[in-house]
Amino acid sequence: MSDVGWVFRYRLLWLIAGAAVYYISARLSMSTFSLGPENLALVWFPAGIGLAMIKFFGWRALPFIFIASYTANLPGMSIFDSATNYTHTGISAAANTFESALAYYLLCRVLPDGMRRFADILPFLVIVCLIPTAINASLLVPNLLWGGYIELADAKWLWMMLVLTNSLGILIVYPLISAFSRIEPMYVGQMARCFSLFIICMGLVYLAFTLFSGFIFLLFPALLFLAVQGRRGTAYVALTLTVCMVVALASHDPGPFATGDITETRLMLLTFLYTIAILVLGSELHQRELMSTTSAKERWRYKANHDPLTGLGNRLLFMPLLDNEMKRAERMERPFSLALIDIDNFKQINDKYGHMPGDEILKAFSTLLLGSLRDIDVAARMGGDEFAVLFPEAAATDAESALKRLREELEKLDITVQGTPIKLTISVGLVEFHPDRFDSADCLLSQVDHLLYDAKRQGRDRIHAQH
Ligand code: GH3
Ligand code: MG
Repeated sequence: MSDVGWVFRYRLLWLIAGAAVYYISARLSMSTFSLGPENLALVWFPAGIGLAMIKFFGWRALPFIFIASYTANLPGMSIFDSATNYTHTGISAAANTFESALAYYLLCRVLPDGMRRFADILPFLVIVCLIPTAINASLLVPNLLWGGYIELADAKWLWMMLVLTNSLGILIVYPLISAFSRIEPMYVGQMARCFSLFIICMGLVYLAFTLFSGFIFLLFPALLFLAVQGRRGTAYVALTLTVCMVVALASHDPGPFATGDITETRLMLLTFLYTIAILVLGSELHQRELMSTTSAKERWRYKANHDPLTGLGNRLLFMPLLDNEMKRAERMERPFSLALIDIDNFKQINDKYGHMPGDEILKAFSTLLLGSLRDIDVAARMGGDEFAVLFPEAAATDAESALKRLREELEKLDITVQGTPIKLTISVGLVEFHPDRFDSADCLLSQVDHLLYDAKRQGRDRIHAQH
């Protein structure tokens, strides 16, 4: 079979799996997740699943959504012994499919990059959740009235419930599925922490329904902690599990939401579910926004402090390090050494072979330099072909030995440009720091520069050191 065939089969299987999840969640919403006496669903997950199916599989998901919705609705709508059951079920399934399609269309128009920022919650809630579900409810309710499934007096109430429960389904399921389309690896510790918090959430729900209603409020900090601490998506998993457990338990006994009036109980429960959904979504998005701002700042700081060609730190990074080292050396009364290295006649190489080979040579030299230093030594590119090296806790003699080794390695370095072998040499100025001789980093650096200049003047390819 061709590659395309495999891709098609793979997608088809996922689409069938999506439709199956849609069907099962619809059946669950009508049975386990509903509250009597009319058995109205408290949350309609299929609304979010339909939207996610179109997002991942495109418009080809529409017939799958229609079939899943039709088969899930048919048993509930087959209460009359009449062929019109099929027509009314078909209209309901078409309205549900249209809802998912419209939600996806509006999502692409309003939030083409999905939900990324805290401020995206409001457009998502109003435009992606409420508008398509309101239109769907406006199609479903007349259909149910026409089919004789509901009384006119109940129409307004049912319309509102459909809008609220379907919107909640989108609000909970869409972020969950979107988050898991980009799974992030987790450490064992993080996994254990998330798992413990899942258990805590489930435990709190159970205790709220069986022991003390007030436990339901502890869900706020537990979910908040997950949203802020956990990895992407884990808070959404906890939210979905919590919502499932709350509505499943509430369908038997309203527990903490019992008010004595079924309408008020439903609204209390929905208000609670919306609150925790928005809390989790808001905290997760806010946390992600904070993290991306921080990492963008770090990226910029790194760029500002590093030379893009060699990856070494630049003068901006080096000077504060030198300053610190001077203070430390003064405090500890330990020496350190500073070297300035400049490649000899580098301009000629550039002029003869061009800038590109020159760049390659600078990179090769930086690698060699780093390889010849200790872990605690710090190398930086100060500009052009000039490099600085800080040797903490090293007297000039120790630093000189390291630099001699570097020159030996450089002699062995095999550089061939356009078929011509090139021998690279360096001149070095080296100073051992003594607090009584230098009162600032600039003063120390100018002394090293002076020695480097001497080394150049006296014929290059040498180290001039001051002990
Ligand atoms: P000296 O022995 O006196 O150091 O002579 P030199 O030719 O090396 O002269 P100098 O150090 O003053 O010049 C450095 C040259 O390095 C000038 C410039 O052409 C070249 N250069 C500076 N930055 C870069 C770079 O990023 N890439 C390349 N390819 N060349 C650079
Ligand atoms: Mg030079």
